[in-house]
Amino acid sequence: MKITFLGVGSAFTTRDYYQSNMLVRAENGAGLLLDCGSDIRFMLAEAGLDAAGPGSALDAVYISHCHADHIGGLEFLAFSTYFGGERRALKLFAQSDLLGKLWNESLQGGLGRIQGRPAMQLADYFHCRPLPVNGRFDWQGIGCQMVAMPHLANGAEVVYSHGLLLGEKGRGQFDAFISTDARFCPDAICRLAGKAELIFHDCETTPFKSGVHAHFDELCTLPAAVRSKIWLYHHHPDPPQDPQAHGFRGFVRKGQEFSFSR
Ligand SMILES: [Zn+2]
Repeated sequence: MKITFLGVGSAFTTRDYYQSNMLVRAENGAGLLLDCGSDIRFMLAEAGLDAAGPGSALDAVYISHCHADHIGGLEFLAFSTYFGGERRALKLFAQSDLLGKLWNESLQGGLGRIQGRPAMQLADYFHCRPLPVNGRFDWQGIGCQMVAMPHLANGAEVVYSHGLLLGEKGRGQFDAFISTDARFCPDAICRLAGKAELIFHDCETTPFKSGVHAHFDELCTLPAAVRSKIWLYHHHPDPPQDPQAHGFRGFVRKGQEFSFSR
């Protein structure tokens, strides 16, 4: 399994970083997109990936939550695959409530009506794979375990982003954990560090602390053994911090690839 960071930036990033979406490649070359933000057209082009063409390696998409830096490219992907000659639907993995919100609150406006066909649904574009909260699924022989991470609380509800443990190796161990978008949850991260070889954690690097992502200063309070497993991403352009000096692996670079062998 390989994980390539197509982008590593925040929602407000530049072309030098792109938004934080990843591509997981299975041994057979098939690709799973981890989130599909507004920058995805450019990310796929830079990675040499055609979303819809014949023989496209893209097989599936996993969606963690409904912010546009994670879903803003889905209309492009849906139309590209639907009208792209082969009419090749990708698998779409997401927590089941999130799938409903994804359609009803975000995608329906653009994808719901097309020329000559009434009442299009999400299932007309994707092979939907609804998953339970903290569910487990297999993709191309790669075991994936979802981990609901609190992303924001608005006083009425807590909105979760569904992180992923990837590459199940048996005995509850995995190759990697990807936080997607998560508030600082030290207990959860310490627990997950016992399950994953590497942790990729979103990291806010600006002086302003939004509270919806773990901030660099907060992540610095984790035990040294946990920090030594963590790569940081979803950062602001030109972050001033020095992750290695604080015991982290580093900031992930756009295009950086991580390989995991069986
Ligand atoms: Zn978000």
